[in-house]
Amino acid sequence: MYLRSLHLRHFRNYSDQGIQFGSPKTILVGDNAQGKTNLLEAVELLATLRSRRASRDRELVSHDSPQAQIAATIERLGVAHELVVDLRSSGRRTLKVNGQPLRRQAEFLGQVNAVLFSSLDLDLVRGGPESRRNWLDGVLIQLEPIYTGLLEHYRKVLKQRNALLKAQRDPAGHSLTDSSTEMAFWNGELATAGSRIMRRRARLVQRLDPLADHWHRAISGGQETLTLSYHPQVPLPDPQATAEVVQAQFLQEIQAKAAAELALGSSLVGPHRDDVEMSINQTAARAYGSQGQQRTLVLALKLAELQLIEQVIGEPPLLLLDDVLAELDLHRQNQLLDAIQTRVQTLVTTTHLGSFDARWLSAAQIVQVHGGQ
Ligand code: ATP
Ligand code: MG
Repeated sequence: MYLRSLHLRHFRNYSDQGIQFGSPKTILVGDNAQGKTNLLEAVELLATLRSRRASRDRELVSHDSPQAQIAATIERLGVAHELVVDLRSSGRRTLKVNGQPLRRQAEFLGQVNAVLFSSLDLDLVRGGPESRRNWLDGVLIQLEPIYTGLLEHYRKVLKQRNALLKAQRDPAGHSLTDSSTEMAFWNGELATAGSRIMRRRARLVQRLDPLADHWHRAISGGQETLTLSYHPQVPLPDPQATAEVVQAQFLQEIQAKAAAELALGSSLVGPHRDDVEMSINQTAARAYGSQGQQRTLVLALKLAELQLIEQVIGEPPLLLLDDVLAELDLHRQNQLLDAIQTRVQTLVTTTHLGSFDARWLSAAQIVQVHGGQ
């Protein structure tokens, strides 16, 4: 996969700026707040239609404009495609591939695959479970575009069920008999929609686990083993369990937590509360003191993600390194370079080139970013 060019119009601090990528490695260098991350964010949007930093499109559109555009030419399995995403402050989006407007997000997803590694990713080890769930979801959206619809549907069901739990808690609102039939309905919906997500996430973690372990051993010099396991609220017999088995288990768990849910007025069972456990030599990585070990772990996770996407789609995704390369010591920088070589198109941001190994600088296209230009 090769991103040939990108054109940003009224996107963040870019008013009208094109860039051609003439080398498999591009280093975007500039002072703070000049637009380096904004550029990577535009590529992240092409890959996932989401941004890790922005919760709504209004934030992505330049302050002085009602709408923004990201246009790109991407070469996928040897064929070039023109992609356009129009964003509006209102939140309405238009997606086009080769001039053809698309009705569904799922038709656009999969056009671009990318792995983003930023300083925020240390949250994968140190942060709460939400960052780990978002990571899995971001990978699944790229591997299986319909997953975005499954997530959206689950969110709607969860919202409805939570509203009903709140109403039940407040006896003045609902009559109890009515709402218990309604609750049985939403339990079923939650179990069906939730199982789809849980099963996919559990299988993804199962596939990432040996790859991440391989990279972690390689980077740590064979000293340490890494284990990833999915921790669902609903005990999964195994990641390959059938949908029926998981749904039945899900409903059982809902029954078991019914009183607590009612007291709290919110759903306690489901993939919105799941987590991924990461252990180094059988010890929870989160409790591990060394920052260096946590960095190694995150780098291993990202390389595993890259390798898995490559296996599934048949060519390497783009690699976006936001501010992280300079934080890796020269040994890890070179491990990373050995892993990606020139096969993987890589966009790197930095405020200074000084801490880069010479191997990274040779043959890289170096782009100065200043004030959205
Ligand atoms: P750092 O080295 O600090 O990470 P950076 O070059 O990555 O800096 P970005 O995050 O890409 O910086 O860009 C931040 C700049 O973009 C800030 O000056 C910010 O004010 C501006 N900006 C962000 N959103 C918008 C927007 N919607 N409209 C206009 N400008 C924006
Ligand atoms: Mg930045």
